[in-house]
Amino acid sequence: MKRLVILGGGESGVGAALLGKAKGYDVFLSDKGKIKDKYKDVLNYNEIEFEDGHHTEAKILNADLVMKSPGIPDKSPLVKQIRNKGILVVSEIELAAKYTKANIIGVTGSNGKTTTATLIHHILKEELEVGLSGNIGKSFAQQVLEQDYPNYVLEISSFQLDDIVDFKPHIAILLNITPDHLDRYDYKFENYIASKFRIALNQTKDDYLIYDADDEVINDWLKSNKVQSTLLPFSLTKTIENGAYLDKEEIKITIDNNQIIMPTNNLTLEGKHNIKNQMAASTVAHLLKIRKQTIRESLENFQGVEHRLEHVLKINKVQYINDSKATNVNATYYALESMESPTIWIVGGVDKGNNYKELFQFVNEKVKAIICLGVDNEKLMETFGTMVDTVVETQFMSEAVKIAYKLAETGDTVLLSPACASFDLFESYEDRGRQFKDAVRSL
Ligand code: ADP
Repeated sequence: MKRLVILGGGESGVGAALLGKAKGYDVFLSDKGKIKDKYKDVLNYNEIEFEDGHHTEAKILNADLVMKSPGIPDKSPLVKQIRNKGILVVSEIELAAKYTKANIIGVTGSNGKTTTATLIHHILKEELEVGLSGNIGKSFAQQVLEQDYPNYVLEISSFQLDDIVDFKPHIAILLNITPDHLDRYDYKFENYIASKFRIALNQTKDDYLIYDADDEVINDWLKSNKVQSTLLPFSLTKTIENGAYLDKEEIKITIDNNQIIMPTNNLTLEGKHNIKNQMAASTVAHLLKIRKQTIRESLENFQGVEHRLEHVLKINKVQYINDSKATNVNATYYALESMESPTIWIVGGVDKGNNYKELFQFVNEKVKAIICLGVDNEKLMETFGTMVDTVVETQFMSEAVKIAYKLAETGDTVLLSPACASFDLFESYEDRGRQFKDAVRSL
């Protein structure tokens, strides 16, 4: 019996353990931190041996195969030891993909993965049997084990891509690349870029790479590196012959001379970034021969995803918007860009070395007041203090919302788009978003 050792006891680790056991491996799971009780219950119930709080090397280094959870850095001494022994280390999507013949649609990028993957699934499910997994909901491994679908839309992070060997999506979507997670890439942007492009690593000309042709980083990489995939670019600014582009108020998508045209006026998702996401998603649907009518209707009735430019309430003709998932400056850039009325902007949290320069134009044009919400608001106060008349700070969400309420006048928008991680005051970005919504609802 081959021994499969799993490092990390979260969603993907536990999913992989269940799949490994079902496929006849001798499975051992080890987590240096604490495994949640709900996962311990699953492991116990399925009689899978595990440990948490430490790693027992003797039980790990005798593995035939190691599955490493995305949260564990390659630099960790244990992973180095494993590799030095010549043991193959894979990610959960690599492992799970071995046990399904499904057609895989893989979505990656620095921002927009969840929105786009969810939207693709929303369209495809109208005419195909399709699962949605990866970083969303149930792990891919568990999904393959419990109910294998003929098609999957997978949200895929760079960490999952770092440990693929043969994994290949038939359709890959690369939404954008902006600096993120550089601590895991030796602070070298080029390493992070290369990691993102691994989505196309095993593709051949029968597979597709859908990508943003307006993204300089992606274009530059494609100029100096080869991919085998058939390229389907999308663009807001140029005419694209094979792929998708925006022509005034219409999205035009052409694949092998077969064109579909969709007006943008009834799309539910706002903002330029979401036009891109919708172009990418519709290109997938067109490629898979989903009817035009279905694509259009699905785009028009898509409700969006919680915490991503989510409209919460309108109070006294003031719109409150929750964009708590904007944990970096680029996401907030698109949020501010999409604002169509004077905006009271709630921002702040754990700064990841943010450069706020790219926001200056929108802040000047659209923002009438800034509420800094974090443990350390100094950098924000310094950066924006002279740009906007009202800049205040607080460490409480309820207070931030009350201040916003007092400052807001008819027609204004109150936007929570923090551009920062949430861990100073909140458990997660979800917690932050929920606290915002609760505070708005109790105004
Ligand atoms: P991810 O799964 O990659 O983190 P999400 O769909 O959860 O992406 O969105 C994260 C944040 O980025 C949200 O604030 C959202 O409004 C913003 N966003 C969504 N799509 C894009 C895009 N194409 N480019 C830049 N920002 C985006």
